[in-house]
Amino acid sequence: MNTCIKAFAKRISLALMLGIALCSCSMEPTRPQIKVMLLTGQSSKYHNWELSSVLLEKHLSAVEMFDVTRVVTPAQGEDFTGFNPEFGAYDVVVLDYEGDGWPESARKGLESFVGGGGGLVSVHATDNAFGDWPAFNEMIGVGGWGGRDDDFGPKIHWFDGKTQLLNTPGSAMHPPKHDFEIVTRAPEHPVMKGLPARWMHPNDEIYSRLRGPAKHVTILATAKADKSKVDRGTDNHEPMLMDIRYGKGRVFHTTLGHCNTQDDEKVFSLNCVGFITTLQRGTEWAATGEVTQPVPADFPAAEAVSVRN
Ligand SMILES: [Zn+2]
Repeated sequence: MNTCIKAFAKRISLALMLGIALCSCSMEPTRPQIKVMLLTGQSSKYHNWELSSVLLEKHLSAVEMFDVTRVVTPAQGEDFTGFNPEFGAYDVVVLDYEGDGWPESARKGLESFVGGGGGLVSVHATDNAFGDWPAFNEMIGVGGWGGRDDDFGPKIHWFDGKTQLLNTPGSAMHPPKHDFEIVTRAPEHPVMKGLPARWMHPNDEIYSRLRGPAKHVTILATAKADKSKVDRGTDNHEPMLMDIRYGKGRVFHTTLGHCNTQDDEKVFSLNCVGFITTLQRGTEWAATGEVTQPVPADFPAAEAVSVRN
């Protein structure tokens, strides 16, 4: 190749490289993607992770900023030796899991991830899991069942305009599924800002008398089951949505979202626009500390539920 042709080829390749560089710059998204690990794979006989995790994935994937990866644990009774999720590759972990204990390496992995500033979202029956894992109990603030008996730690509820801890007897229970009202308790919190003060939520369980270390918990929303109206009501304003801080990490805990093997694919609790919206906003907040998603026009009102198909 003579010198002239060489110089021409060099100029062409430079121009091409510049073009590719400019092109890739202009194609970059305006906002970085939030990497979400949806971790699921086991539930008790009262729940159905195979259905709930599909709905959670659908609701999270509907948000453009989320890049969702579904990670499934070994099945109940299977070998967990190689189970060691790469938490550090994600911004937030959404847990839909109630099952076998994890090996020490996986436990330490989640502790380091959240303690170091990673986000965590705990959905419904996840707070039944890992009663014997002290750091997990700190991450979720309060939990139920799974060995969390009367001396496990204080109960938490909303009373007299503020959060109160109770050391009185009584461990977790819930009334039968029914429609109930959710009351916002922290209207200025990023997850709750702009949501109505009261809204109706369909066919779900009011998790009640949850216990735990209950440290660094902010109650975002509550619900109350009247003893006179439903079986196993407590008459207390029980926390439904919570903000918990663990080390440098943020945890969004929703006790909503019951899904059992008898439910059909509609599952009103998980397809409630209130559940979907708080899940999406809570996941963004756990990952970044902010919420940029608007409140949807079909958000439920104080008088009526709103469910998407
Ligand atoms: Zn349930």
